[in-house]
This record gives sequence, C-alpha cells and structure tokens, in this order.
Amino acid sequence: NLIDLLLNDNIKALKPYESARRLFSGAGNKQQIWLNANESPFANEYDIDAQRFNRYPDCQPPAVIDAYAQYAGIESDQLLVSRGADEGIELLIRAFCTPGKDSVLICPPTYGMYAISAETCDVGVERAPLNPDFSLDVDAIKAFKGKVNLVFICSPNNPTGTSVDKNQLREVIAHFADSAIVVIDEAYIEFDQDNSWASQLNQYPNIAILRTLSKAFALAGLRCGFTLAQAPIIQALMKVIAPYPIPEPVAQIAAQALGQKGLATLAQQVALLNAEKADLKNALTAFNDIELVGDDKANFILFRTPQKSALMAHLVANGILIRDQSKQVNLDNCLRITVGSPEQNKQLLSEISRFFTLQT
Ligand code: PMP
Repeated sequence: NLIDLLLNDNIKALKPYESARRLFSGAGNKQQIWLNANESPFANEYDIDAQRFNRYPDCQPPAVIDAYAQYAGIESDQLLVSRGADEGIELLIRAFCTPGKDSVLICPPTYGMYAISAETCDVGVERAPLNPDFSLDVDAIKAFKGKVNLVFICSPNNPTGTSVDKNQLREVIAHFADSAIVVIDEAYIEFDQDNSWASQLNQYPNIAILRTLSKAFALAGLRCGFTLAQAPIIQALMKVIAPYPIPEPVAQIAAQALGQKGLATLAQQVALLNAEKADLKNALTAFNDIELVGDDKANFILFRTPQKSALMAHLVANGILIRDQSKQVNLDNCLRITVGSPEQNKQLLSEISRFFTLQT
C-alpha cells in the first residue's frame, strides 16, 4: 500500500490532537452552548475591505505588528504574527530542534499541542510533570539541562488554570540560559495580566512568549497568534514561516481588534468574564460531588467529580458541550468548563443542578 510505504514513521505512530471542534464535529447547531474550547462567548463586529484581495498580503502586516507591539509594550522587531499560537509552537520547534536528534520538555498536565507538534517534526518529548499542587517541579525541570532545546511552560496553564510562580520561572530561565529557550505560553494572559513576562523580554535572550487573539480577544475563528522574543529568535522564526501566513482579511480584523475601540471592548469583556467566573466557581462549590481543582487564572474552571462520565453525558445530551480532561496525568475524573455568557452560565448551572437532583 502506497500510503503505508511512504508515510513518515513518526506520523504513523501519531495520535492527532483531539480538538474540541473535532470531538463534536458538525457543531454549528445554534441551540448548543459551547463551553469546551475556552473560546469567548462574545462575537464582535468588524469591517472588511475586499479591494486588496487580488494581492498577496504582507508576510508580517505592519498595521498588525505595530499595534500588537504597542499593546504588549515591546518593540516591533520582537514580534512575529502567525496562524494562531499553534503555528508559533510549530515554528519554534522547526527552527530550534533538529529532527531525529533533539527534544523538547513539557510539564503535564498541560496543553496538548506542544507534544503533538514535536512528534510531527520527529522531535523527542521529555516530561517533568507538575507537582500535585500544579506548581513547577523545578528540580525535575532543571535535570533536563543539555537534553532539551525548548522548555514549554504554560501560564496560566491549560487545563489547570494555575499561573506559574515568577521566582520559580526565573530560576528555570536562568538555569537554561546557555542551553535552551523557555517558551512561556501566555494564551490566557489577559485574564491574569500581572503575571505576564512581556515586560521582561529585554532581560532574557532565551525566552519566547506565545500570545493569541483566540481567547480574550474573542477571535478564535480568525486564527491569529503572536510570538514575542528578542530579535534574534524572531529572525530565526522568519526563516521557517510560510511566505504569506496571514490572510488579508485576518490582518484587517486583527488591526481593528488591536485599535482603541477593540481594546476597550477587550477590557470590558475580560472584566465581565472574570466576574462571571467568580460567580460560577461559588455556585459550583455548593455541589457535594464537585471539587474545584487548580486555580481560576484563565477563562475556564476545572473540577473533579466521581460522576464525571454521567455528568458529561447529561450536559452533552442537553446541548452543553464541555471538555473531559480525565486522561491527563493527575486529572482523573476532571472536567473543564469554559466561562460563558451570563445566560449560558445560568443554563449550565441549572443543568448541573438537575443532574444531581436526578441522581438522588
Ligand atoms: N496555547 C494554549 C495554552 C491554548 O489553550 C491554545 C488554544 N487551545 C493555544 C495555545 C492555541 O491558540 P491558537 O488558537 O492561537 O492557535
């Protein structure tokens, strides 16, 4: 069989990422409430000008680069825009790891794409699991010095909702100063602004920060993300990125989202979601069979319940999609719910309540 004959061995063995949208494909049913992909419940309005669609776009559209650099408080040459933060992960691996030879380090439970991106590139994956309280196991991480080229640290971490302690992370960055780039994934940083590393960029030549418009900016459908790092790292990534990675309509919408009006909307929606999150957490603690797990630094809540499978099935049957995290290390019986709109959260709580009433 030709496909078997030609297929990369590492791709043969690969189990692809089960994205929230793949697990519930065909979603699009307006009745459904999607609380499984950490998206924003808000859909904002943008203008599109089709006059330039006959031309290739700029590889790195200046309007987007300059606006995001200003938003993040960095220089324009310290920034790369890509097809979501997911492409940033892949570019870092492709630029800084040699296939069949090098490895990256991940700290599970964490975002699944670091390992999958490495595997698709035939790059090894080492693991230093988080401590039981989901803090970094700094000694375990440090033991990988010389064995890994990239160290992926997600903060706030998906799916635990915990932000990494700054002193611990500083120690890790210093330890790998001459041997690895520490990639700090700040996909959810707008929900926990005080913990960003963007303002430290000039101090650390061996960090790269991942950002996205998919979460707080409410633009998951846009596929637009950023890598922040000192210029030499950005220049290396520019060597491997596709010629025209950012479609013209994406550039137009991203620039609007990063304008004054867009940023005002962002601030308003983040405040609303953080308030909703606090209410949702409070309400969930009232259920005997629910134990909150991790922290609430992002736009989702993780909890454990002995009724994990039945509760998940009940919610899905009633049109509320959430995410099962129970296969991840130390997250047995854990479910993750994205904070939705006030109305969606109300419906979620009412279904959870109905589920536990039906049980008794
Ligand atoms: N990092 C983390 C921690 C995420 O949760 C996600 C989205 N699930 C991403 C990166 C990917 O973001 P994007 O949509 O920008 O590719």
